[in-house]
Amino acid sequence: MLAAGGSALNAVAAAVTALEDDPLFNAGRGSVFTHAGTQEMDACIMDGADRRAGAVASVFGPRNPIQAARAVMEKSRHVLLVGEGALAFCREQGVAFCEPGYFHSDARWRELQRALEHAEREPPQYGTVGAVARDRRGNLAAATSTGGMTGKTPGRVGDTPIIGAGTYADNASCAISATGQGEFFIRHAAAFEIAARLRHAGQTLDRAARAVIAELAAAGGSGGVVAVDRTGALALPFSTAGMYRGFVRDGMAIHTAIYDEPYRSG
Ligand code: ASP
Repeated sequence: MLAAGGSALNAVAAAVTALEDDPLFNAGRGSVFTHAGTQEMDACIMDGADRRAGAVASVFGPRNPIQAARAVMEKSRHVLLVGEGALAFCREQGVAFCEPGYFHSDARWRELQRALEHAEREPPQYGTVGAVARDRRGNLAAATSTGGMTGKTPGRVGDTPIIGAGTYADNASCAISATGQGEFFIRHAAAFEIAARLRHAGQTLDRAARAVIAELAAAGGSGGVVAVDRTGALALPFSTAGMYRGFVRDGMAIHTAIYDEPYRSG
């Protein structure tokens, strides 16, 4: 889409939609379960050109929570809608819904059973999806979608739909999408802190993103971000053992990686 001159906003929405449709990822179909055995999804999209943003939290039903978030951004006066009100709005706007069984994944169900049995010993399971993009016109956008964390308390909302925590985009600085222990990303306003370091401290994206991930790790919170700045520089730092990630730029082959520290954009 970007190579054909499409917008950053459409590109991040399309990328996240595809990942939500894949049950291997913890977003949309294949979302993790709460400790009550339910699924509650959070999603957010932000347009760096004008800082329009839309998000939904604690929803179950829309086939693609990111499309629900986009409807909030484009068709409501609000930024964040939650629960039943969000669902009613989505139905009014013609957002596609799926039957409950569509979202179920046996692997996620077993993950919940293991987490309930060995609450302390199980490492946290992530799998949130996100995308950032810069288009030919220099517009930035970010989108993030998640089922949250396995065994979470029903009603818990993570960093994903919180602007400046798990998702942020501003053409003047950068676009960020985060994954990890959401509570830490919220308390540190992680995505906004990366952007603020660019604007106020003149740091490169790479330095700013690494510094914030390191700060969270020092506080006990693991995770990572995918980020692109106004010049097109990339940063994909993480403090977890691995992070599924990929990137591409004009005239370059697609790169994907899981474990090793990636690409340095300078
Ligand atoms: N950040 C997400 C949350 O806390 C979880 C994740 O990234 O896997 O809801």
